[in-house]
Amino acid sequence: MLQRIPDRVDPWRLAEQGKTLEGRIKLDSLPRLAPLLAFADGEAAFVLRFGRDKRNRPILGLRVTTELVLQCQRCLDSMVQEVDSAIMLALVQGDMEAEQLPEELEPLLSEDGEYLDIAELIEDELLLGIPSSPRHKEQNCNRRADAKAHRLPEAEQKEDNPFAILAGLHVGKNDH
Ligand SMILES: [Zn+2]
Repeated sequence: MLQRIPDRVDPWRLAEQGKTLEGRIKLDSLPRLAPLLAFADGEAAFVLRFGRDKRNRPILGLRVTTELVLQCQRCLDSMVQEVDSAIMLALVQGDMEAEQLPEELEPLLSEDGEYLDIAELIEDELLLGIPSSPRHKEQNCNRRADAKAHRLPEAEQKEDNPFAILAGLHVGKNDH
């Protein structure tokens, strides 16, 4: 089922209606996220479920899945980070309400009738998942493989040399 997703929605009304919005968003259309990517030519898939919880709080669940191409801060090569992120938000109109929420619900401050920018919400969620200094896992990182290859012989030499000198000295002393 294809539906056109509006950029901005009334979350209170959608919660009333129990609506689900499903779609895809281009990563390069997210101005805060795009500069952090090594390659921003992908898309994120999202599902937004609006409704009310058992205590009749207006809530929305967001799930975002995508693959982000980041730059490894160790080897500067690109690395792919799989994202499958889900969050439950409760619509609140002020800090008092936000403080009363159970742990599993994040507050989403929104005045009654105020519109919600879906792209911004998705972008916030994706930004939270980006490490401040992204790196390959050690075994996959090019820098480490290179460094290891260059360093090993050097380290071996340094380790061998003092012993070789000591052994030579001892031999020399004993001989004379
Ligand atoms: Zn790396």
